[in-house]
Amino acid sequence: MKRVRCPKCDKFLSFDETRYSEGQSLVFVCDDCGKQFSIRIGKNKLNETPKNDNPNEQDEMGEFGCVTVLENVFGYKQIFPLSEGDNYIGRRCVGTVIQIPIESGDMSLDRRHCNINVKRNKQGEIIYSLSDGPSLTGTFLMNEILGPKERVNIEDGAIITLGATTLILRTKSE
Ligand SMILES: [Zn+2]
Repeated sequence: MKRVRCPKCDKFLSFDETRYSEGQSLVFVCDDCGKQFSIRIGKNKLNETPKNDNPNEQDEMGEFGCVTVLENVFGYKQIFPLSEGDNYIGRRCVGTVIQIPIESGDMSLDRRHCNINVKRNKQGEIIYSLSDGPSLTGTFLMNEILGPKERVNIEDGAIITLGATTLILRTKSE
């Protein structure tokens, strides 16, 4: 299966690319907003738009590690590399600019739910800290809710729960 993104509302639609041949044009109607749009099947076009169906932490791991979003009923597995500084995490939505936009139908996941800050201390070690957005449903670290102004240091393997969505921090490749 391949995915295309609705140009109007940004939702993904899936289709079976093996039923079509290269060069063929397909018309889609978005389930969500009703927008009609077409794509032409071609090698470049297909490789450009869809995401990797089974991303691998080793491939996505940058200098500052990554977060893995576990697959659930609202979305598939996603991996996002972290950058130095603030990494705001939330539900992907048109018009909200954050570093880690999770493609998900989980409405208990805010558009700007929490932040993982990455910085180096004087010894050059990378320090990761987690704080809440503030979000409507709260940010949980290992099942403990964070206080409104709380900022806690987190390490490799930290389990973060945002609404019905679970993330795992990966700071290094094994
Ligand atoms: Zn749409």
